[in-house]
Amino acid sequence: MIKSKIDENLGKSSLKRPKALVLLSGGLDSLLAARIILDHNVDVEAVHFVTPFCRCDCGSLGDFINKFNIKLHTIFLGQEYLDVVANPKHGYGSQMNPCLDCRILMFRKAWELAKKIDADFLVTGEVLDERPFSQRLKNMLLIEREAGLEGKILRPLSAKLLPISEPEKRGWVDRKKLFAIRGRKRLPQMELAKKFGIENYPTPSGGCLLTDPAFARRVREHLKHEGRLTIDDAILLMIGRHFRVNGAKIIVGRNEGENNRLLAIAERRKIPNLKVKEYMGPITLLIGGNCNNVDKVVKIAAAITVRYSDAPKNILVKVIYRCGEREIEITAKAINDEEIEKLRV
Ligand code: SF4
Repeated sequence: MIKSKIDENLGKSSLKRPKALVLLSGGLDSLLAARIILDHNVDVEAVHFVTPFCRCDCGSLGDFINKFNIKLHTIFLGQEYLDVVANPKHGYGSQMNPCLDCRILMFRKAWELAKKIDADFLVTGEVLDERPFSQRLKNMLLIEREAGLEGKILRPLSAKLLPISEPEKRGWVDRKKLFAIRGRKRLPQMELAKKFGIENYPTPSGGCLLTDPAFARRVREHLKHEGRLTIDDAILLMIGRHFRVNGAKIIVGRNEGENNRLLAIAERRKIPNLKVKEYMGPITLLIGGNCNNVDKVVKIAAAITVRYSDAPKNILVKVIYRCGEREIEITAKAINDEEIEKLRV
């Protein structure tokens, strides 16, 4: 009885097809990597990571997984990711993108999932030397090592230029069917896409806001003042116009949607806020504002609020300063362009 149970289990494990977990960002490289692995005798599932700063054009991802009937897992990287952004062990790329630490975190999380779903290896769309920071050979190997995944990551697009991975050694995937793509030119990927019939993939630009110079400046400035980054901070960094005055942060909504979001955040977090009284205008948050008296910072926040309202710019305008339960009416004239630029973050 016991023997037959063991035989049954052995039979099951020897029958199990290897399983790949593909990291699917939705970009062309990751779609191609997934498509290549589908040509092998392995089961395929995919994981998509969402971070507070990603602007994924995910339409192509949905089309792809539907077309090939791939199970997709989504993992949100929240505070853990923001801690990495605030303090990356391996530093930043060209802007505030901590790509090495970010990849290490993603690989660790992907491997946790792989273990849960009984996957044997990871697949990524990384291309050797396509990105100067995270896709140099030295750094790819460092990421793999620090994630504790040496040999467990298959990169089908550049595999022939990389050390042989475990899935290749074990014969799960055929190295002859893999590629030797290198560098930033995307022609080989576009030709492959044509061959595989992959259309409507997103352009390579965009994706991560941390690589955007203007946004990176905001994040850098925030970290310099606050030393940490929370989910609420991340949300606020992506909304409105930002100004710094004597250590306080002034955030001004740019449209109705942003004003509504700022007001909701202000009410939830009890952040002092301002609004012009008799004209249409923005919601302004004053983080670090003084509720006890109308000091210089409050007056500047009021002048900035008037500047972005429909009120005439050369007269004193009534502004409501809301602080907790209190509503204080003050008057302010619009700040001039030269002054405002000195305060802009
Ligand atoms: S670009 Fe952004 S999301 Fe991509 S690896 Fe770098 S930090 Fe992570």
